[in-house]
Amino acid sequence: MTHAIKYCRLRLLYRRSVPQADAASIKWAMRAGRQPQKSVNLRRTGDGFTAEALSSAAQYERYSMSNFIVLVKQVPDVTQITDNAFDSETGTLIRTRLVSVINELDTHALALASQMKQAGGDKDAKIICLTMGPPMAEEVLHYSLSRCADTVVLLTDKALGGADTAATANPLAFAVRKIVREIFDGNNDYYVVCGMQSVDGDTAQVPAQIAEELGLGCIAYVTGAEYKNGRFEFTRIISGGSQVVAAKKLPAVITVAKHDYPVFATFSATRRASRMEIIRWGAEDVQASHIGVQGSKTSVIRVFPPGKTTRKCRELADAKSLAEILIDSYTSDESNKAEDAHARTNGYVLPGKRANNLDRSFEGTQKEREDFKILTDKLRELGISKVEQTDEYTRKAILDAAGEHFHKRALEDMLNGLQLVKPTYQGEIWVVAEHGDGEVHPATFELIGKTRQLADSLETKLGVCLAGHQVESMAKELIAAGADNIYIINNKLLDVFDATAHRKAVADAISKYWPQIVLFAATPRGRMLAPMVSYRVGCGLTADCTSLDIRDNSRRGQIGILLQTRPALGGNVMATICTKNSKSQMATARPGVMKRLPADYSRTGNIIKHAVELSDSDLSLEIIKTERGTGEVNFAADVIVSGGRGMQNRDNYERLVRSLCEAVGGRLAAQVERGASRAAVEQGFADRVHQVGQTGTSVGPKVYVALGISGAIQHMIGVANSDTIVAINSDPQAPIFKHCDYYIVGNVEDVVPKLVRALQTE
Ligand code: FAD
Repeated sequence: MTHAIKYCRLRLLYRRSVPQADAASIKWAMRAGRQPQKSVNLRRTGDGFTAEALSSAAQYERYSMSNFIVLVKQVPDVTQITDNAFDSETGTLIRTRLVSVINELDTHALALASQMKQAGGDKDAKIICLTMGPPMAEEVLHYSLSRCADTVVLLTDKALGGADTAATANPLAFAVRKIVREIFDGNNDYYVVCGMQSVDGDTAQVPAQIAEELGLGCIAYVTGAEYKNGRFEFTRIISGGSQVVAAKKLPAVITVAKHDYPVFATFSATRRASRMEIIRWGAEDVQASHIGVQGSKTSVIRVFPPGKTTRKCRELADAKSLAEILIDSYTSDESNKAEDAHARTNGYVLPGKRANNLDRSFEGTQKEREDFKILTDKLRELGISKVEQTDEYTRKAILDAAGEHFHKRALEDMLNGLQLVKPTYQGEIWVVAEHGDGEVHPATFELIGKTRQLADSLETKLGVCLAGHQVESMAKELIAAGADNIYIINNKLLDVFDATAHRKAVADAISKYWPQIVLFAATPRGRMLAPMVSYRVGCGLTADCTSLDIRDNSRRGQIGILLQTRPALGGNVMATICTKNSKSQMATARPGVMKRLPADYSRTGNIIKHAVELSDSDLSLEIIKTERGTGEVNFAADVIVSGGRGMQNRDNYERLVRSLCEAVGGRLAAQVERGASRAAVEQGFADRVHQVGQTGTSVGPKVYVALGISGAIQHMIGVANSDTIVAINSDPQAPIFKHCDYYIVGNVEDVVPKLVRALQTE
C-alpha cells in the first residue's frame, strides 16, 4: 500500500465515529505512523471528540481493557410533584401519581462510561447497566440499551424492598461481583460508574457503600475524564476547587456529579433494545448478606411536608422598588438567618432526671406524646405512680380512656417503656473533624456547637476525631469551640485526604471507643467518608440532616436516641429517621444549618492519641493536580453581590457585578464584596476564591444579591445565613425565587443598569 493510500484511509478512519472503529483499525492507524495527540479530553463535546479519542487510543501499546458497570435507577419525576402526590394523613408519597424517569445523574454516568469506552479503544469492552427495583424498573434498562449499554441486569425481588442505603448497596455490590464472575469472566479491570446521588434519596451514600463492600476506592463528584498514558484521569469537585485524580488500582467506583454530554438513542439501537433480553436476578441469585427492611440499619419514623420557608418570596415590579428594598433591608434589623438550632431544640432531659417519673413529653412523634399523655393522665387519676401498681382493672380503665388511640398490645409496650430510665446507647458523642491546609473546616465548628447541646442533655462527653498528619495544633481551637476530648490519629499517609485511608483510620478509632453518636459534616468529603466508615463498622447512617434531636421512642424500648431529620425527594418532603441494629448512631449534617458557639479559650480538654497502622496499599487515589482559589476576598462584607452562569460571559460579570457593588457601596456606605456561583467560576467569569456555596465559602451578609443564579441547593446552603436574599433571574420558574425574600423576573443586562441608576439617583 502506498503512503498516499494509507493517508487517505487514515483520514477516512478519523472521520468515522469511534464506535465504528475497532481495535484492528486503531492498530492499523498506529502502524500508519501518524503521530497521535497526547490525550483525549472527554469533557469536550461535538465531533472533535471522536478523532481525539482515536488518536489517543492509537498512542499506547497497552489499550485500556476496562469494562464498565453503570448503575441506573428509576425515580419519581420530582419536578412534577404536586400536593396531591402525598397521602394527606401519613405524608408519604403516592408513587403511582408520579411519572417515573431515569435518575438524571445516571444519564450523566451513562454518558461518561460511553465516552470512556470509546476513548479506551477496546472493542471488546462492555457496558453493563445494573438496576435494582420493581419489575417496572426495566424501563430504565431499555433506555440504557437504546443508548450505549451492551447488556442489562435487573435485580428485582420483593425481599429487597424497603431497604435503606446500606441494604441497597449490599445486594448491588453482590450483583457487581456476579457480573464480574459471569459476564466479565473474572476480569477485574472495570469501573463501576454511578450518578452521584438519586433525586429521591438524595443521600450519595450508595456508591461509597458499594465501594466499601467491594473493598474498592471511590472517586466521587467526577465532572470529566481524560485518557492519558493508558489510564483515565478524572476531574472532580472538591471543597474550594477541583482536583485531577487517577485510581491507583482497578477496579474502582466513580460517582458523576455532572457530565451532561448527550447520548442519543438511535433508531436501530431502540429496535435492538426492545428485542434484547434483560437478565433478571432475584435475591437468591446474588446471595447478598444484608437486604430489605431486615438488613437495614435505619428506619423512617415520620414523613412530613417541609415547613414554610421563612423567606418572604415577594416579587417586585421594577428596579426602583428593588433599590428601595435594598436600602431598607440594609438599614433594618430584621433577620431571616437560618434557624438557630439552639433556639429551636427543646433541651432533652433524661427520664431519670425529670421532675415526674411518668413524664414522657420527650417522645419523638406527636402521636406518641399524645398516647403517653392519655396513659399517664389516667395513671395519675387512678393514683398510680409506679407501673408495678397496675393490674387488670387499671389496664381496662386505661384502655377505656384511650378509645381508638391505642389498644391492648400497645398499652403493654407503653407500660414497659415507662419503666425505662437508662439511655439506649452509651458513650461519647463524636464529631469527625474536617480540615485542610492546617485549618478546621467551618462546618466542623458548627457541628461541635450542636453536639455540645446533645452531649449536655445526654450528660456525656463531646469527642472530636481528628485524623491527619501533624494536626495537634488544631486541638486547642476545637476545645475552645466546645469539645471535651480530642482523639488524634496522626499518620503521614493521612496528610492528604484519601477516602480509603481516612475511613480505615476513623473506623478503627470508632471500633475502639464506640461513641454512641458519630457526626460528620455533609460536605463532599464528609458525604464520601461517612458512608464508608458507617458501612465498615456496620452502623446506620443518615445523610445531610438539617435537624438533630435527642428524643425517646419508649414504646419501642428506646431512650435518648438521636432523631435525624432531613429533606428528601428534592426537598419536597422531610423525613425523620432513627438508627437500628447498630452500636452507634451516625449522620452527616448540612453545613450552614447549625450554629458555631463563641470560642471559649478558657475551656480545657484531653488529647487522646490513637495509633493506626497504614501502608501505601490503603491509599486508593493518585492526586495529580489540585486547584483552589487564591487571593483576598472579604466575605465578612455587609452586602455580597454574586453573579451566576446567567451573566453569560466574563465581561458582563465584570461590568454588571462591579457597577452594582459600587452603587450599593456608594449609596449605603457599606462594605460590598463580589461573589459567584460555582458555574460562573467554572465558566471563567470569576476567580475561584469568589465562589459561594457548599464547596465555596458560606456567607452571612445583611444583604445577598444573586444575579443570574438558579438557586441550586449547593449554592443556597452557602447563603442560608444571609439576613435578606434578593434575586434577579429571567426565568419565572427559577428555584431561587422560592428561597429568597425579594425578586425581579428579568434579564440582568436590563435590570442591573436600572437598579444602579435608581441607587444613584433616588
Ligand atoms: P445555572 O444553574 O445554569 O443557572 C443560571 C441561571 O441564570 C438560570 O436560572 C437562568 O434562568 C438564569 N439566567 C440566564 N440568563 C439570564 C439573564 N440574562 N438574566 C437573568 N438570569 C438569567 N454551586 C455553587 O454555586 N456553589 C457551590 O459551592 C457548589 N458546590 C457544589 C458541590 C457539588 C458536590 C456539586 C455536585 C455541585 C455544586 N455546585 C455548587 C453546583 C450547583 O449544583 C449548580 O450547578 C450551580 O450552583 C449552578 O450555578 P448557576 O446558578 O450560576 O447556573
